[in-house]
Amino acid sequence: MTFKQLGIISPILKALEAEGYTHPTPIQEQAIPILLGGKDLLGCAQTGTGKTAAFAIPILQQLFLAREQNSGRRKIKVLVVTPTRELAIQIADSFTTYGRFTGITNTVVFGGVKQGAQTNALRAGVDVLIATPGRLLDLIGQGYISLKDVEYSVLDEADRMLDMGFINDIRKIIAKLPEKRQSLFFSATMPPEIVRLSREILGNPEKVSVTPEQTTAEKVEQTLYYVSKKSKPKLLVHLLNPIANDSVLIFSRTKYGADKIAKFLGKASIKAEVIHGNKSQGARQRALGNFKSGKSNVLVATDIAARGIDIEELSLVVNFDLPNIPETYVHRIGRTGRAGLSGVAISFCDTEERPFLRDIQKLIEQKIEVIEEHPFLVDEIEATTTTKVSTNFKHHKPENKGVLEKVTRQGNNNRHAGRHRNFSRRY
Ligand code: AMP
Repeated sequence: MTFKQLGIISPILKALEAEGYTHPTPIQEQAIPILLGGKDLLGCAQTGTGKTAAFAIPILQQLFLAREQNSGRRKIKVLVVTPTRELAIQIADSFTTYGRFTGITNTVVFGGVKQGAQTNALRAGVDVLIATPGRLLDLIGQGYISLKDVEYSVLDEADRMLDMGFINDIRKIIAKLPEKRQSLFFSATMPPEIVRLSREILGNPEKVSVTPEQTTAEKVEQTLYYVSKKSKPKLLVHLLNPIANDSVLIFSRTKYGADKIAKFLGKASIKAEVIHGNKSQGARQRALGNFKSGKSNVLVATDIAARGIDIEELSLVVNFDLPNIPETYVHRIGRTGRAGLSGVAISFCDTEERPFLRDIQKLIEQKIEVIEEHPFLVDEIEATTTTKVSTNFKHHKPENKGVLEKVTRQGNNNRHAGRHRNFSRRY
């Protein structure tokens, strides 16, 4: 199947070719004909499946074909609502990319920044508006946005909206939309409240479902290191040092932890960017920009901040902390291995995190492969004995020689093997 066979018009085909998209992903193959046929759509799909293009392409096409009839100042004909600023920006980028030969315009509004630039863009008139719920309602309240001309509405990542407490805002927004419109609804999971919401929003939708979460987990090569909390930084530096040119996303459970990781990586001369909720929008965008452009290869993020980050060719995801919610693990490792590529994810597990590991393995219905040999296994001994053993290889004391030699040898073997194994086996 090709995009041409799906009936995509040439200005959009040209843009897709320029992006290097040769074939539609499964969700695109299923959703595009439904949407071009004017039907409502309920999509069960997570980020990484190509779902943005699955809705952006047919919407752009329908707008382009109807454009001749719509002259005069541009009115908002498409509304996309999404939970985070990062996702909103990425969706806007997708509309810009796929629509670059169509003349269709878009803008994005989100909170946490001054509204001036956003209201100026709105005043000029725009075809497609991508918004987070709070700022959207705010600007509607101030009279900058009218939804009365909307012909296409997209609710993206509905389950995250629910998690983040946006559900009432969503209901308020939906109430402001014209009855007659094409509605699209996407969610990675379908808990009962989401099913109820989808029924309120959609008419008689066609349903598409791709990549259940377990499939993502199967696609990604996952390994596990048992390591004490204290040795996690050293193990991370050890693993990252030989792969300085690959792009690595490191997850931390807390904002404080994320800053600490970047700090010790910095000390080891590994430049890392950090994004979390305490950073200003500008700082987050700068960090993401540096990472995407390759200025820095390592990005440290908390789960909320990382939602929806769209990075192509991510080499490795590191779970510096295991998440206490097992679904979060699946979301995290899904950041690698996107759009059909295979990915690599490594996780550190300390004693306190063992229960989290059990829950994760139960959810993904597989045992994560344990790396039995690494230089910081000694900490396991430390954790179970009262004898303090130095792990500083350069300055080890003679009395610890037996243990240290063993550990050092393991470490060296591991490093050596790492350089010569192919990439996906390095961890
Ligand atoms: P999404 O699920 O929308 O976040 O998309 C995941 C990633 O897949 C994005 O980086 C897209 O640029 C990429 N992508 C989407 N559709 C295709 C396609 N047909 N071929 C190759 N890459 C794609």
